[in-house]
Amino acid sequence: MSKRKMILISIDSFVGSDLDILRKLPNFSTLLDKASVVYSNQTTYPSYTHSIHTSISTGCYPATHGVNSNEHPEPGNLEPVWFESCKDVKVPTLAQEARRHGYTVAEVYWPLTLGDDVEWNIHRAGIHVIPENEQEVIRRRSTPGFFDEVYPYIKDAFAMSRDYASDEVCFRTAEYLIDRYQPDFMEIHLVAIDHIRHHYGVYSRELHDAYRYLDGGFGRILEALRRQGLEDETIVAVTSDHGHLDIRQVVSINRFFRDHGLIETDGEGKLVSWKAWMQSCSLSGHVYIKDQDPAIASEVLKLLTEHSRELEIERIFTREEVEREWHLTGDFTYVIESFGNSSFSSNYNWELYTSTSNSSYRTSKATHGHLPGKGVQPCFFVCNPFAAEQVYLPEGRIIDQAPTLARMMGFEMTTCDGRAMEALLK
Ligand SMILES: [Zn+2]
Repeated sequence: MSKRKMILISIDSFVGSDLDILRKLPNFSTLLDKASVVYSNQTTYPSYTHSIHTSISTGCYPATHGVNSNEHPEPGNLEPVWFESCKDVKVPTLAQEARRHGYTVAEVYWPLTLGDDVEWNIHRAGIHVIPENEQEVIRRRSTPGFFDEVYPYIKDAFAMSRDYASDEVCFRTAEYLIDRYQPDFMEIHLVAIDHIRHHYGVYSRELHDAYRYLDGGFGRILEALRRQGLEDETIVAVTSDHGHLDIRQVVSINRFFRDHGLIETDGEGKLVSWKAWMQSCSLSGHVYIKDQDPAIASEVLKLLTEHSRELEIERIFTREEVEREWHLTGDFTYVIESFGNSSFSSNYNWELYTSTSNSSYRTSKATHGHLPGKGVQPCFFVCNPFAAEQVYLPEGRIIDQAPTLARMMGFEMTTCDGRAMEALLK
């Protein structure tokens, strides 16, 4: 197979129904006119950004790739550390496989690429919570020397509003890389749409503004490809990780555990000890039992079952059930799934029920983490100048994207749970 160039762009939270907006915008419509579309893609569980992006880039379920949430399990900690290191991924990624096959690789703010050995990696300092010394953190996390090299081109982006600054860094970095180095494979992660959905709900006027902005950014990437004469030699694939659901209220499961003596706090509300802990995945939650003690586990199951309606729990999975049905594993004992309009908070000091708040992505106006199949699903399209025909598939799977993209570029990925979508490879 011959070697072909590819740009893979993930628009976080981009869903099938957004295509109606995209078709009215100049650059997206240019791409879509030539693209094959997989309208609705079954994502992985929990529908959480860093876990799903690992599924997109490995073609595997969380049980195989090892990233079962956004954050590492850390019972007792309300702000656990995010999964970011490439070492957390147990199977090869599309980018790593491309590199192994002799492609030059650029990773632009792509999740779980921290420390990855590629030509150009620029790694964000945080996705929802940005540290004060953001630029220093990005410099430290990126390929040595690369942040300073690209800085003159991206520095103005940091002055933009929170919703757009991250994507502007991506667009400017991508333009720079195409003009200067023409990477064989580049992957880019855009977050403005996701932030807008968290803040304003699944559908809002602000969503249209954000897509207009993104259309301009896509235009700049296409223009850079034109400048380098690569327009007809580069596959442009656009993917996404999950949809959102609108939220009515927040239920603090750990407050319930505290009220039932399973979490103990001191006079200042500081955690002293825990027997059961729910680590929030917003619309689902991972329930950890201290030392996996069977007696505590059955007490907790009884409590959750008895109070499931008032806690807005639709389903309680045992570890075995969730592995069998959704290929999700971890050291948790149960996984709880919300009815879909209540989000779960880990904060044991909150009241049992609180209103939504944009102070955290877990409790915002809309959020995710829910079972695949609920609500609108992520969309996928590929503009492949080497394809003989355009196809439209109503349904697909996130885990089938990596093996498909690898084949389009000219190599095989043999470690995927998913399989290549043959219809897209003609
Ligand atoms: Zn996301």
